[in-house]
Amino acid sequence: MRLDGKVAVITGGTRGIGRAMAEEFTNAGARVIVCDIEVLHYQNDNVEGYELNVTDSKACKVLADYVKGKYGKVDILVNNAGITRDALTGKMSDEQWNLVIDVNLKGAFNLTRFIGPIMQVDGKGSIINISSVVGEYGNIGQANYSASKAGIIGMTKTWAKEFTMKGAQVRVNAISPGYTMTDILKTVPQELLEKFAKQTMLGRLAEPTEIAKVALFLASDDSSYITGHNLSVNGGMRL
Ligand code: NAD
Repeated sequence: MRLDGKVAVITGGTRGIGRAMAEEFTNAGARVIVCDIEVLHYQNDNVEGYELNVTDSKACKVLADYVKGKYGKVDILVNNAGITRDALTGKMSDEQWNLVIDVNLKGAFNLTRFIGPIMQVDGKGSIINISSVVGEYGNIGQANYSASKAGIIGMTKTWAKEFTMKGAQVRVNAISPGYTMTDILKTVPQELLEKFAKQTMLGRLAEPTEIAKVALFLASDDSSYITGHNLSVNGGMRL
């Protein structure tokens, strides 16, 4: 699973799953542009930090033009930036709903609307959208998050159709991780995390690298005939 000479854009890559992906991708030979609202705070010669709020459509266009201008191409896009703002539906505020939809769903749209066409003209590319087990099955207190993540799967299938319309080899896939040990779980009570771990066949939560290695596979030419797929990586949570 090599990415030698490839240029990858990863959103939300300063920590968590996105950071693990940046590490896997650079180890495989890629140049990675990590786009995040947070400043890049780790050292990796093949990772370039780029401050971006994915909800800002104009800024996403500037980023797409910047990468194309500097590197001449974008081989890989990972729409990974995501947040939670949990509440039961009857108590969910407009702000909680709007923010999660804006970052998780519109954020992925904002980048793909500019980078997908670049890939299409170049004739190739791999787009990976990070959904969630919650997008597949729902979760109490996460109507906003589950809607955004289910929407990600819908957009994945749409883009797999759209960006190949002129014969380009642009592949678009989703990964739906199960519960993974990152900061996003900070607000989830420990006993709930233990319950989730017991629901998996492997009896534990995922490590970020276990999701990142799957992204590496989908980014690489080793998955050259896989597109429009949602790959569940959840330790058998829903068997
Ligand atoms: P995390 O909180 O560790 O990392 C999220 C990253 O996104 C951070 O670096 C953050 O700064 C960045 N980000 C947030 N808002 C942004 C914005 N508007 N623009 C740009 N960057 C922004 O979370 P994580 O667990 O690494 O999550 C990564 C992805 O995986 C998310 O889409 C999340 O929904 C998904 N996911 C996570 C889990 C899990 O259990 N950890 C499970 C399923 C899916």
